[in-house]
Amino acid sequence: MEPLAEVPLFEMDQEDEEEEEDILSMKSTAAGGCIYAGHAVAPPAGSDPDNFIYMNFMKSHCCYDAIPTSSKLVIFDTTLQVKKAFFALVANGVRAAPLWDNKLQSFVGMLTITDFINILHRYYKSPLVQIYELEEHKIETWREIYLQYSINRLISITPDCSLFDAIYSLLKNKIHRLPIIDPVSGNVLYILTHKRILKFLHIFGSAVPKPGFLQKQICEMPIGTFQQIAVVQESATVYDALTVFVERRVSALPVVSEEGKVVALYSRFDVINLAAQKNYNNLNMTMREALGSRTCWVEGVLKCYPHETLETIIDRIAEAEVHRLVLVDTDDVVRGIVSLSDLLQALVLTPADVYERASFQC
Ligand code: ADP
Ligand code: ADP
Ligand code: AMP
Repeated sequence: MEPLAEVPLFEMDQEDEEEEEDILSMKSTAAGGCIYAGHAVAPPAGSDPDNFIYMNFMKSHCCYDAIPTSSKLVIFDTTLQVKKAFFALVANGVRAAPLWDNKLQSFVGMLTITDFINILHRYYKSPLVQIYELEEHKIETWREIYLQYSINRLISITPDCSLFDAIYSLLKNKIHRLPIIDPVSGNVLYILTHKRILKFLHIFGSAVPKPGFLQKQICEMPIGTFQQIAVVQESATVYDALTVFVERRVSALPVVSEEGKVVALYSRFDVINLAAQKNYNNLNMTMREALGSRTCWVEGVLKCYPHETLETIIDRIAEAEVHRLVLVDTDDVVRGIVSLSDLLQALVLTPADVYERASFQC
């Protein structure tokens, strides 16, 4: 990653900047008041105990365990102008913020980069016309319009709920940010993500036996999406990419050359560069231009191959701290996506017979 000098304080990761020792020690097992009690379950007779290792691991640790000793949290009042809010995300190097409604005296939702994408996509006309709604609307005005079509309450979790509960909520609601709220004070303590949960598993998972299935090749396992992969050509415009984000609701697009080879990855996170560089008025620029002007990025494309083992893939995704790998063949043609949502579904929810993500064989 190479942050350029002019970028204001923009860091790649809010939630993962802490050192390992900042992840709290294993403390608790109880999860009162949550959907899934924080207790490991014995595998049913005749079933492979390996399949239940990660499910039980997540059931026996609570959200509090995954909170770092310190992290930055930015909260927006719903009367703040949306443009200022997105600039504030950039200036503070965070990806999302809980929204506080002063009249209701409560948190009412989240503002994320997806909201920036939705606003740009909905109101953009041409490079010659300013996006009035971005310049003038308050967060509350935007929410009045947008919430008719989307989640209209804050989805949160309490610190005593299990990590299993957190994964269930992230996947069921198809969100990437889950605030942990202290039920006594009502304060947001931390914003939990798939990445943070995988990091927790990666560090503390060594305390549990290693399941045999980690040695299977990814092409033998239905983990990931292997059909109808949403991609974008490098000659396409940024507006085209935003259209795919809005219509397909995917978190990232492999960028492909005319020959169909993957040459880069453009994630929703990268769209915030348009705010960082104040060039969101020109969505007609090509993907090639947009990728070249990114202010922080991961070098190359993080990929995986069908013959690689699940263990290799988990290690790569955890060490690179990215949300997915692009599955390619030997010609670098995109064959699939293995996302953290897919891994958490397969390792944790599927063994509990909870299906929030469809998976296909590759
Ligand atoms: P991103 O991947 O851009 O960070 P998400 O996928 O988490 O964003 O967000 C998708 C939509 O859901 C956005 O409109 C966002 O405001 C909303 N959202 C995200 N997290 C929550 C939450 N915990 N409660 C309510 N709405 C949320
Ligand atoms: P988030 O923390 O919001 O989930 P992402 O992991 O999607 O963020 O993206 C963070 C950065 O990592 C972005 O610049 C994105 O382009 C890059 N990135 C994510 N996945 C890959 C990948 N598989 N290959 C290359 N870069 C990636
Ligand atoms: P994510 O939003 O990355 O957490 O992933 C949610 C689901 O969408 C997972 O099953 C991914 O495999 C799938 N997915 C992610 N990106 C793409 C893409 N570009 N095309 C098709 N499916 C995708």
